[in-house]
Formats: sequence, C-alpha cells, structure tokens
Amino acid sequence: MIKIARIDGDGIGKEVTEAGVAVLESLDLNIDFVEAEAGRECFDKNGTTIPEETIRIARNAKATLFGAITSTPGEKSPIITLRQELDTYANLRPIKSFKGVDCLFDDLDFLIVRENTEGLYSGKERLEEDKAIAHRVITRKASERISRLAFQEAIKLNKESVTCVHKSNVLKKTDGVFKDSFYNVAKDYPQIKTIDYYVDATAMYLLTKPQEFDVIVTSNLFGDILSDASAGLVGGLGLAPSGNIGDKHGLFEPVHGSAPDIAGNNISNPIAMILSVSMMLEYLNEDYLASKVKTACENVLEKGKVLTPDLGGNAKTMDVANEVIKEIEKLD
Ligand code: ATP
Ligand code: MG
Repeated sequence: MIKIARIDGDGIGKEVTEAGVAVLESLDLNIDFVEAEAGRECFDKNGTTIPEETIRIARNAKATLFGAITSTPGEKSPIITLRQELDTYANLRPIKSFKGVDCLFDDLDFLIVRENTEGLYSGKERLEEDKAIAHRVITRKASERISRLAFQEAIKLNKESVTCVHKSNVLKKTDGVFKDSFYNVAKDYPQIKTIDYYVDATAMYLLTKPQEFDVIVTSNLFGDILSDASAGLVGGLGLAPSGNIGDKHGLFEPVHGSAPDIAGNNISNPIAMILSVSMMLEYLNEDYLASKVKTACENVLEKGKVLTPDLGGNAKTMDVANEVIKEIEKLD
C-alpha cells in the first residue's frame, strides 16, 4: 500500500487534483490517499494556511500531490512551509514542447533543476531604517547535493550535458561556491558534458538556442525566473508540471496557481497536474506507469480532439482526464 498525501487546496487546485487522482486510480496500483488541508479556504476555516496535521500527514506519506492554493495576505505560503518541512531541496521543472500545441519552439525537451532551500529565497531579509538587506546564503553542501541530483537526472534521462547557471563574475563568493561545487561533483560523472553560463547569457540563449539545453542546474532565484521563462517557450501554464524532491519526500504540483478567474467552471486544464502525477510515479520507481501516463497525455494533445479552452477546445477538466485514462488503456 503506497500512502499518498493529497492536498487539493483552492480554486482550480481542487479540479486538477481530482483529475490527477482519477488517473492514478485508473492504474493498477495500491494507493491509499490521505486528504489534508492547506491554503485560503483552510485559513478561513481554521485560522492557519497549513495546520500541523497537514505537515504530519505529508511527512508520513511516501509522496504528496499538491493542487494549488490562493495566497493569504500576511501569511507565509504553505507550499514554502511544506518544502522546508519535508526538506525537498530540489525543484524539477521539465520543459517540453508537445505536438499539436502551439508554442514558440516545437522541439524542446530539457529539465531545469532549481535549488529550493537557500540563496535569495531563504527568507533572510532585514530592514534597518532606510536600508533593506537580503542575505544570499550559498553552502557547499546544498550546492553539491543539487549538482549531484542534476547529474543523476541527466543519466536517467539519457542526456549529454549539464549546464550550471550562475553569475560568478559579479557574485564572486556565493556563486564561486556554487560553480566550484558543480565542477567538484562533475568529476564523478565523466560521461556527462559540463557547461557553465552566466545567468544573463542563459536568458538570451533560452530565446536564441534553447534546443542546446539538456539539464540546467541553478540557484533558487535564477531557477525561479528561468523556469517561468522556459515554460513560456512551450505550451504555457496548463501544461507545466513540477516536482519537489528530497532524500525522504517528493511533492508534486502543477506550476500554475489557483486561477480564481476560471475556478469553479471545471474548464481548467488538468494536463500539468497529470504530468506531475507522471513525475510522482517515476519518483515512486513506477517508471513504466510514469511513461504510460506521459505518453497518454502526449497522445491526447496531439489528437487535439478533447482539449480545454486554454488550448482552443471546449472540453471540461474531467473530460480530458477521462480521455487520458482511455489512452492509457490503449497503451496496455
Ligand atoms: P494564483 O494567485 O493562485 O497564482 P493566478 O491568478 O496568478 O492565481 P495562475 O494559476 O497563476 O493564476 O494562472 C494565471 C492564468 O493562467 C490564470 O488566470 C488562468 O486563466 C491561466 N491558467 C493557469 N492554469 C491554468 C490551467 N490549468 N488551465 C487553464 N488555464 C490556466
Ligand atoms: Mg500566479
């Protein structure tokens, strides 16, 4: 029995999680879903955006499926709390073009590996009268562990190279450590080509020659910006999955938010969530099922018959999920 925590959250988070769970339930797996609350509705009900009970449930599960939450002003983001509590130190964002989907580049397939625990997002900011200070902490330990994960992913995905993205010409000390750590770890993976680029150059290359990237590894803020930019190169928010990986837990979520503008109409695109489910299956070492779910999504997109309005169709969220399930059955 595989215990999976299920945090639907707010808005379209609920719709897409229902779709993701339906796909998981259609597979021949023995999953025990444990529901937990987080987000805006949870705050209105319980006075906290993430109850202790939710953290406990996630900790005790093998992996967590997270929909999306609407932020609550003045309250810490529950997803950041979860990433910290579960020590999911890596954020994985596959960037892939799909046949049948209009996008800027139709031949992309790379992975961004973003450090998730430190850098400028570690919350070490302070205000001194008219001066605001943010600490950028980069440790050798976190830099080496994220680089190692990037090389391991490159091997798993059969990729030739890993590109380290930094700004060590300006951030000499902090990104000096990041870059050094990358090359230290690289010694253990002589079969993988190494490249390092400055982040500004990378931003340009993403627009001029994104096909050259295989796996990108970078620090927290750079990864946040580059992965959103990269999502824009392909199919957009409705198709972008992500995984937060640690040594003990994996937390999987679509990149998009709760989209209050379309929530409640059951027209949200569940593909980003279903692809996140595929990443979760891979994390659970169910590689065969993971690839079936992914291929089924690709087939549904390529056929272009059952699509939600964001992709020009008129299907409902669960219509797409059911179509993916039908495609999975055909792959048996
Ligand atoms: P939040 O504050 O929760 O992030 P948001 O208004 O920023 O909410 P996002 O979910 O980040 O909304 O998405 C931005 C826009 O992209 C939404 O307004 C929505 O129209 C569209 N969108 C995002 N995800 C999807 C999806 N899965 N299916 C269809 N449209 C989507
Ligand atoms: Mg948003």
